[in-house]
Amino acid sequence: MNYYSLNKQAPKSTFENAVVKGLAPDKGLYFPESITPLPHNFFKNIDSLSNTEIAFEAIKQFVSPEIPEAVLKTIVEETLSFDFPVVKLNDNISTLELFHGPTMAFKDVGARFMARCLGYFNKDNDNEVTVLVATSGDTGGAVANGFLGVKGVNVVILYPSGKVSDIQEKQLTTLGQNIKALEVNGTFDDCQAMVKTAFLDEELINKMQLTSANSINVARWLPQLFYFMFAYKQLYKKYNNIVFSVPSGNFGNICAGMMAQQLGLPIKHFIASNNVNNVVTRYLQSQLYEPKPSIQTISNAMDVGAPSNFIRIQEIYKNQFDNLKENVSSYSFTDDETKEAMLEMYNEFNYVADPHGAVGYLGSKEYLKENPEAHCVFLETAHPTKFLDVVEEVIKEEQALPQQIQEVMGKEKVSVIISNYEELKSFLLK
Ligand SMILES: *Cc1c(COP(=O)(O)O)cnc(C)c1O
Repeated sequence: MNYYSLNKQAPKSTFENAVVKGLAPDKGLYFPESITPLPHNFFKNIDSLSNTEIAFEAIKQFVSPEIPEAVLKTIVEETLSFDFPVVKLNDNISTLELFHGPTMAFKDVGARFMARCLGYFNKDNDNEVTVLVATSGDTGGAVANGFLGVKGVNVVILYPSGKVSDIQEKQLTTLGQNIKALEVNGTFDDCQAMVKTAFLDEELINKMQLTSANSINVARWLPQLFYFMFAYKQLYKKYNNIVFSVPSGNFGNICAGMMAQQLGLPIKHFIASNNVNNVVTRYLQSQLYEPKPSIQTISNAMDVGAPSNFIRIQEIYKNQFDNLKENVSSYSFTDDETKEAMLEMYNEFNYVADPHGAVGYLGSKEYLKENPEAHCVFLETAHPTKFLDVVEEVIKEEQALPQQIQEVMGKEKVSVIISNYEELKSFLLK
C-alpha cells in the first residue's frame, strides 16, 4: 500500500518508509492511498473468526506487500496475545475493556504492532533506529514495553515532569536496556513540540535515523481499528445500532475506528468524548477549529490542546463538515463530572472505571438522551489502578494492584531531566 502526505507536498511513500520515517518530509501525516472495504460476509460471520483472523484480514491491505502474509500472521498473533472483553452495564451501555495488555492501557496494541513491523524492516540493517516519543501518560509505557529488547531500535521517551501518575512514570522509567526516559520540565505540549522540532532538525536527522511512535505513525495508528471489530463481534447479534464513545486526546483511536467503518464495519455513529481539552467539541458546534494550550485534568492522557489526528478525520470525511457532523458527536466534561460518573458506575453497576473510561461513559449518556435506541460502547482505555489516587479517592475503596503493576512499582526510576530542545539534542547526539 502506498501512503500520501496530508500536506500534499511530498512524494508517495511505501508502508515501510512511512513506518520508518513517521512523518512525511513536508511534515504531513501519512494516509493510505486507498481503502478497500472487506466483503459483506466478513462482517456477517465475524463471530466465527478469531481475533487474529479478524486483525489479519483487516490490516492486510495496509501493510502488503512489504510485510509478507506469513510474517503478518506472526505479528498479529504476538500483538494480540490478550483479551478484549465487552462488559455490559445496562441495555444501552457496554464497555470495551482495552486494558488487558502488559501495560494495562489500550496503546499496547499499537505499540506492539509497530515495534514488530519496525523490527522486521530493520532485521538486516546495521544502522540503529531511534524511536522518539512524547507521552502524556500511557504512550510511553506501552511503547517502552512494546519495543523492549527489539534489536537495532533505541527508544527515547519524553514525559512532562510531575504530570503523569506514579504507575505511569514507573512503567516508562524502569525498563532499562534500549529504553531511555527524559523527564521534561514542562507540559505534554512542550514534549510534543520538542519531538516535532527534532524531526525537522536537519543536522540531527542527517546523523541518526529518527522515527516516531505516537499515533502519527501509521503502524501505531492503524492496528487500533481492530478494537472496534472485536467489540462488534461480541455485540452485533444482540444490538442493532452500535455506537462507539471514544475518550479522545490525540484522536488516533477514534480515527482508527473511522477506518474500521470505512472498511465496512457497520458502526452507526461515533462519540468523541473529551475532558475540558475540547477543541473538537467546540469545532462541531461552531465550525471553528481553534486549538488551545492543554489544561491538566484527571484524565491526563487526553490533555491535548491540538489533536494531531484531527487532520486524518477531516480526510476520512472528505473535509465536509456536514459529513463529519452526521457521523460524529462530541461532548466535553469537567473533572467533577468525571468523578461523579466514576462514583455512579460504581454504585449502580458495581463497575470500577478509570477517569478516561468515565469520560467515555458520560459521552454515551449524553448521546443516549437524544438517541435512546442506540447501544453505546465506551472504550475503557486504561485499567483503573493506573489512576489509583483518583479512583480510591472517589469510590473510597482500596484497589488491589494487578500483578503487571506490582512488579513495576518495586523497581527503581531512572530518568534524565531536561528543560529545552538543546538539551534533548545533545542527549540524542551523545
Ligand atoms: C492515549 C489515551 C487516550 C486518548 O487516545 P487518543 O488516541 O490520543 O485519542 C485515552 N485514554 C487513555 C488511557 C490513553 O492512554
